[in-house]
Amino acid sequence: MTLLDGKALALKVKTAVYKETETLARRPGLAVILVGEDPASRVYVNGKKKDCADCGFYSEEHMLPEATTQREMLDLVDELNKRADIDGILVQLPLPGHLDPEVVLNAIDPRKDVDCFHPQNVGTMLIGGSGFLPCTPAGVMALLEEYGIDPSGKHAVVLGRSNIVGKPMAMLLLEKNATVTICHSKTQNLAEICRQADILVSAVGKIGTVSADMVKDGAVVIDVAMNRDTNGKLCGDVDAGVAEKVSYLTPVPGGVGPMTRAMLMRNTLHSAQCHQNLQ
Ligand code: NAP
Repeated sequence: MTLLDGKALALKVKTAVYKETETLARRPGLAVILVGEDPASRVYVNGKKKDCADCGFYSEEHMLPEATTQREMLDLVDELNKRADIDGILVQLPLPGHLDPEVVLNAIDPRKDVDCFHPQNVGTMLIGGSGFLPCTPAGVMALLEEYGIDPSGKHAVVLGRSNIVGKPMAMLLLEKNATVTICHSKTQNLAEICRQADILVSAVGKIGTVSADMVKDGAVVIDVAMNRDTNGKLCGDVDAGVAEKVSYLTPVPGGVGPMTRAMLMRNTLHSAQCHQNLQ
């Protein structure tokens, strides 16, 4: 079994992004908006700040109080949409309950939507057009490519159908000619379907979702989840015993997580290149 080393590939991607950044007249700029005091979100925002520094980007964080109104959020997004030094705008989710994420995310200029959440960018991805790709699924595809795993003709099973991970993951695998099955909480015979997978992607967010008896010998297993066990340790959906049966597996941590962050940097560079008419 080979571990798909997301940490190493993310470093390689970020190094390439840094080199491209050096050729630009103006460095790419990323603005991150965080509302409230959620400690996990703050960790993610700090990680993105570090990634920006590693890639030679300008970054700024807007740490807003929990009581921020939707109007104030929309005004800030509008201001960032207009700024020439900002190429990417990222709203850290989840937002407090009184803010409507759909309204806020849809207000971001699609040309600066480096998370690829705007319906215009999701639609472009769906029809196979070029542009931003959603970071987590794009990170998984980059890992498969790096290790020479071609999805063409394979049966890929995706567990989860969220707009952020499951659905776009299925679309990118389909784009690469996999035959795709999407499973969710109402799926019957989950184990049986999983056993048919050449490539199994789990994005459920529940420890123990995938056990060894649910995977085919030699399958490729991608664990997207980031769960916390009872000791607070980061872990995925996939049981440890799965490693004995499969050909490739992503570790948690060190698999998909670092790739998601690297793809955000790649999208921000892409946006800056477009804004500077280089592409
Ligand atoms: P989500 O919005 O909660 O979606 C979870 C999906 O799992 C839903 O579609 C749900 O089905 C499905 N599901 C729940 N129980 C199931 C079961 N027993 N069998 C099959 N499917 C089941 O979560 P998300 O945002 O997609 O994230 C999923 C996981 O990935 C989380 O652990 C999250 O932390 C992690 N994540 C990691 C990264 C990274 O960079 N590594 C990035 C994003 C997310 P229904 O639709 O029927 O409810």
